[in-house]
Amino acid sequence: MDQRGDGACVALDPLTSLCTRYDSRPQTCRDFARGGTLCRQILFP
Ligand code: SF4
Repeated sequence: MDQRGDGACVALDPLTSLCTRYDSRPQTCRDFARGGTLCRQILFP
């Protein structure tokens, strides 16, 4: 997904911090579920 000037995904709603395309999000977003094992490995190696 493209990023805004602050680096956030363009699909991220800045007010709610929720994905506005959650049902059609890319496979990468599905693979890296927030707080999931893969996500934690990237954030806390
Ligand atoms: S889940 Fe993916 S598409 Fe949705 S806001 Fe996050 S990075 Fe963007």
